[in-house]
Amino acid sequence: MSKEMSSNKEKIVTIDGPSGVGKSTISRMVAASLSFTYLDTGAMYRAVGLKLQEENVDLTDDTAVRECLSTVSLELLPASTESDDVGVLLNGRDVSRAIRSVEMAMVASEVSSLPAVREKLTRMQQEIGNGGKIVAEGRDTGTVVFPNAAWKFYLDATPEIRMQRRADQLKLQGKQVDEKELLAMIVKRDHDDQSRSIAPLCKAVDAYIIDTGTLSIDGVSKAMLTRINQL
Ligand code: C5P
Repeated sequence: MSKEMSSNKEKIVTIDGPSGVGKSTISRMVAASLSFTYLDTGAMYRAVGLKLQEENVDLTDDTAVRECLSTVSLELLPASTESDDVGVLLNGRDVSRAIRSVEMAMVASEVSSLPAVREKLTRMQQEIGNGGKIVAEGRDTGTVVFPNAAWKFYLDATPEIRMQRRADQLKLQGKQVDEKELLAMIVKRDHDDQSRSIAPLCKAVDAYIIDTGTLSIDGVSKAMLTRINQL
């Protein structure tokens, strides 16, 4: 890493982009190479979505949402292997598996447009990133959560390529996949994430953009580490 990194920059890597673009795997690899902590912000939105769903909270009622959120505590658990997702304890309960379904991704996307949810999770993420040495992955980590991060990346690929990757993952887990339906969900999630009024998914002006459709996972992580070492 360059010793000349500007002093007002935080020692943080941000990796944003749409769903299924390879962010999690790549973030884990980059974090491991740098000996940084991997912060999966999507897991936090999923866990909060689960809580709001379980409590049957009316999402149009901001007071009710805030009341429910005030009782939420989240703890992120490191992935047990390099290919695993990070785990989450929601008020001490292990919800690591429950939050990873396709349905919970849609719920997370829905609740992520609520101001109360974004305020709470952005604050929690900034506290976690306070000491630096973080690889933060999500939709707004370079634009809103860590605008002073030293190294910002935006990963992209077409919806069709992302759908195929996700379908292959699900099939490997023995799950049945309706590819048309999966593509429709990805396109909807892209649209919702990009069009919400608070912290929409977009490229930070100072982000380095990588098309993951034409590169292997190793190729993307090497390109990122090269850039991190140059800056
Ligand atoms: O990345 P992941 O698929 O786990 O994210 C689930 C959902 O959480 C996304 O579709 C998005 O709506 C929301 N999210 C967000 N901001 C982040 C991370 C995730 O709005 N920083």
